[in-house]
Amino acid sequence: MEYTIKTLLTRKEVEKRIKELAKELEKDYQGREILVIGLLKGSVMFMTDLIKEINLPIVIDFMSVSSYSGTTSTGVINVLKDIDVDVKDKEVLIIEDIIDTGLTLSYVKKMLQKRGAKSLKICTLLDKPSRRTAEIKGDYIGFKIPDEFVVGYGLDYDQYHRNLPYIGIIVKK
Ligand code: 5GP
Ligand code: MG
Ligand code: MG
Repeated sequence: MEYTIKTLLTRKEVEKRIKELAKELEKDYQGREILVIGLLKGSVMFMTDLIKEINLPIVIDFMSVSSYSGTTSTGVINVLKDIDVDVKDKEVLIIEDIIDTGLTLSYVKKMLQKRGAKSLKICTLLDKPSRRTAEIKGDYIGFKIPDEFVVGYGLDYDQYHRNLPYIGIIVKK
């Protein structure tokens, strides 16, 4: 299938916003240690850029859950790779690329809550609030975007375009 990619957020806009989020987090978590958990693979670019700007003690880990194939939700959430660290009594910050229906995050949040995290916050680069079905919202949000399928800065279309340094909308021809 043929498509083009139309810029939604430029590299400069994304980088500027990530620095702002980092400063906000640094202020809110002052004097504390953060366990940063990235959801693979989409959050990787965002997470690495973000945490480099936070001057606090940080431990990182990754979890891989899947619910999507192509551009449509299957509604099934599988834990493909769990975290290695114990979240008990930790201040956990979950990093996500985008909140769409919210199903993925509500599942992950409940799972980590059950394991006894001391606090649990969500930081997402993008938010598509119009598609929400689960009771979940981001505590730290980079950008609210319209209901379009986006790629770049970690987000893929059938595994491609994660390396784009900007966020673009897939426009089908
Ligand atoms: P949710 O469970 O919130 O519906 O799904 C979140 C996941 O779906 C995201 O982490 C992401 O992997 C995928 N997703 C949702 N919307 C988009 C989108 O516009 N572009 C891409 N590339 N992935 C998306
Ligand atoms: Mg994701
Ligand atoms: Mg994906």
